[in-house]
Amino acid sequence: MGGRQVTSWQDMHITVAGLGVSGVSAARALAGLGARITVVDGGDSEALRERAVSLEETEGIAVRLGDADTLPEGTGLVVTSPGWKPTSPLFAAAAEAGVDVVGDVEIAWRLRGPDAAPWLAVTGTNGKTTTTQMLASILRAAGLRTAAVGNIGTPIVDVVLSEEPYDVLAVELSSYQLHWAPSLRAHSAAVLNLAPDHLDWHGSMEAYAADKGRIYEGNRIACVYNVADKATEDLVREADVEEGCRAVGFTLGTPGPSQLGVVDGILVDRAFVENRQKNAQELAEVGDVNPPAPHNIANALAAAALARAFGVPATAVRDGLRAFTPDAHRIAHVADVDGVAYIDDSKATNTHAAEASLAAYESIVWIAGGLAKGATFDELVTKSAKRLKGVVLIGADRGLIRDALARHAPEVPVVDLDRTDTGAMPAAVREAQRLAAAGDTVLLAPACASMDMFANYNQRGDAFADAVRGLAAAGA
Ligand code: ADP
Repeated sequence: MGGRQVTSWQDMHITVAGLGVSGVSAARALAGLGARITVVDGGDSEALRERAVSLEETEGIAVRLGDADTLPEGTGLVVTSPGWKPTSPLFAAAAEAGVDVVGDVEIAWRLRGPDAAPWLAVTGTNGKTTTTQMLASILRAAGLRTAAVGNIGTPIVDVVLSEEPYDVLAVELSSYQLHWAPSLRAHSAAVLNLAPDHLDWHGSMEAYAADKGRIYEGNRIACVYNVADKATEDLVREADVEEGCRAVGFTLGTPGPSQLGVVDGILVDRAFVENRQKNAQELAEVGDVNPPAPHNIANALAAAALARAFGVPATAVRDGLRAFTPDAHRIAHVADVDGVAYIDDSKATNTHAAEASLAAYESIVWIAGGLAKGATFDELVTKSAKRLKGVVLIGADRGLIRDALARHAPEVPVVDLDRTDTGAMPAAVREAQRLAAAGDTVLLAPACASMDMFANYNQRGDAFADAVRGLAAAGA
């Protein structure tokens, strides 16, 4: 199979960057193959020390805490964890010494056995987890042994080394993971969409796009792109793929030949059918997608395209989509109170995601704000203004959203809570209730990260759901 590398791990000196979940999993796997491992981590907490002692005693893995910058003597390969920036001094030291740096996905790829399951890979700025899980659900409905892995679930190195006989893997890949996985060659892959995110890590939009585009390199059967997002199609064109690999588009409109799309509420395939100039295959109904918001139908089409590239029958696409339930905090309907629907999309941590979620409702009271991560809000507000009944702002960077609203939607009432404390959510929900009337939707889609006020987006979504249940109880 193209791109497979044979690496001898015995006695190789490997430095693993980071004592987190993926680092520890890679360190263990490689130590088990006879490599000599040193894990380095800049932290030096009690918890890290305990983990270090256990690794040293039970598996002979050396751990160096408090210095993540210098390269241990004799290192032949560096294995990095996703969070580490490419500009980290350790990688500069590796480059200086002529030592390769790779990530956990690259290690997993190199560790696969000769008859390993092929990978169907998914990336994009938003929708990765949902699409990968939909794909796994479809593959399962087709009777295939599979798992959703990569940026989710069990560390990918552990999955690749497990005894479990998988037929195919549904692999979610972040731009970080792709950056550090030079020899990965998927069976087929999809880039769902491309919008500015994580630019502080990648350095520029070009570098971010280039890392996303790596997912198409060496594809054998299909490169799946978003017809509505030309940047994804450009990445297909630039990729170096296996002879005969096809470009397959997905669209919310009527599909052309070699595309999947929607006709009269039906998801149809005009790519993986006989005589695609004339024929189309019905896959599922829009109502089979949960939730049937436009961006999520796009996710379902991308998942279907990858499954069909793998030869899955149409009925399995329908059954797999019906069996799928999204993870928490992704357009989750919390409750209806006085005819107002309360929706938790706390996972909308950037403007592109929030835009998709705002596009799914007609009359919205929007709860937004948090950490902007360098984003601007003019485009989001301009595109969503006509749907906004009111806005409640929370969080550190709420001023940026308030200014964009003043510029592009001055008529929309805005309540600036002027709060960044964890306890602010009930007040935000009460203000939203005040602005909403029966038939409206109160939507938590912050367009920002949560860490200024909450531990993570889960806690933010839970706080919202608790506050909504409080309203429901008070009204009961
Ligand atoms: P990821 O794994 O890429 O972060 P998720 O599937 O967890 O993506 O979805 C994250 C958020 O992104 C969702 O809560 C939703 O707001 C938004 N989203 C999901 N799919 C799409 C899409 N295809 N386009 C735009 N936004 C999306």
